[in-house]
Amino acid sequence: MIRIYDTLKSESRDFSPVSSDNTVRMYTCGMTVQDTPHLGHLRALVTADIIKRTMALGGYRVFSVYNFTDIDDKLIEKMRGGEDYRILSQRNIDEFMRFAAIMNALPFDVYPRATGHIQEIVEFIEKLIEKGYAYKSEGDVFFSVSKFDGYGKLSKKKTDELIEGKRIEINEKKENPLDFVLWKGAKDNEPYWHSPFGKGRPGWHIECSAMSMKYLGETFDIHTGGEDLIFPHHENEIAQSECATGKLFANFWIHNGMVNRNGEKMSKSVGNDSKVKGILSRWSPDVVRLYLMKTHYRKVIEFSPERLDEAKSAYSRIANALDGETASSSAGKYYEKFKEALFDDFNTPQALGVIFDAVNEINAEGCSEKKELRAEIGMMLFALGFKSEKKEAASNDKGLVELLIEVREDARKARNFALSDLIRDRLKEMGIVLNDSKEGVKWKREG
Ligand SMILES: [Zn+2]
Repeated sequence: MIRIYDTLKSESRDFSPVSSDNTVRMYTCGMTVQDTPHLGHLRALVTADIIKRTMALGGYRVFSVYNFTDIDDKLIEKMRGGEDYRILSQRNIDEFMRFAAIMNALPFDVYPRATGHIQEIVEFIEKLIEKGYAYKSEGDVFFSVSKFDGYGKLSKKKTDELIEGKRIEINEKKENPLDFVLWKGAKDNEPYWHSPFGKGRPGWHIECSAMSMKYLGETFDIHTGGEDLIFPHHENEIAQSECATGKLFANFWIHNGMVNRNGEKMSKSVGNDSKVKGILSRWSPDVVRLYLMKTHYRKVIEFSPERLDEAKSAYSRIANALDGETASSSAGKYYEKFKEALFDDFNTPQALGVIFDAVNEINAEGCSEKKELRAEIGMMLFALGFKSEKKEAASNDKGLVELLIEVREDARKARNFALSDLIRDRLKEMGIVLNDSKEGVKWKREG
């Protein structure tokens, strides 16, 4: 049984799918594509990936959707720099897809974009107007928050307190300061689509309601996203969707913690070093995956190159333990514990702890089950989405390391100690430690 912490109910409970076809239907709020992805986007992606992989371990099929917000104020703002929003968004979508593949994230079944679903969005808004939950006002359409009794149930915010906080930004077009926009009338020089409410474009929240329902049905199993989306985005999605259908929208709400940089939410303070491009040029995808999974998905991660370096050392401890013969079947005593950890609200730190227990057993004096343990660790790494590429890299550059050792030997024979020391030091920087012994030079990979 898989237990999941649900933000809506503020409790963990046993998971079972809404539909009887053994399929888990899941929607992940994807990135707004005005910029290249940063570590925060990667964390949301890896969280969704772990959910999908755990569901597969639990015997479920998964049907998953990841959306791209490819029209909004930020994209239009960027467009003023002279580049068409379509070219800009396509470039960032391509980057995201490339990084997702490098990270070995399981593909989603559908990647809908807001601009590809204007018809569905317009029909959704029409339905809300018809039912009296939305109203037109000077070219815009707003959702009437006071018509939905459940407003605030996800974020645990009370509407009167919210109104109190909203006093300063009174919008003449709104009947109530909490009402949010479903359709924005086009201003000059903005991209627009035709609709029964006039020329304009969809608001942000409505796209996720329209697209999730199109691909997953009116009630689906899991909705995920970063915890910064709880309010207002997900609160508003619930309001729109449940008013349109009269049914429960998502059965479980799963929110991952933020990645902070210098104590601030990453989306507010992205440095080049915390963009995915920069991170994957310094650390391997497996190391980045390990770094993200060392923290429970609901906790905050403070971006830190030192922690990434620590993850790199930890990863090579696993890779070193796997270096050697592997059995075709495993002993199995760790695998059950490993699954238990993942089935308990995707507890990846605990699951990794089980892997390191197995690594420690291999490294212990007199271990007689090394081959079986290696097979078991391999299974666990595979289940968590590791590519185990370090092992391959180690064997690929084996020839090169040995060539350098030969060159160093020749340098020593020629009494060129400056060169031989230089080679030893450079190899050490690359994590390769040389050991001069009677049988010749031995080398091993460290940190
Ligand atoms: Zn969304």
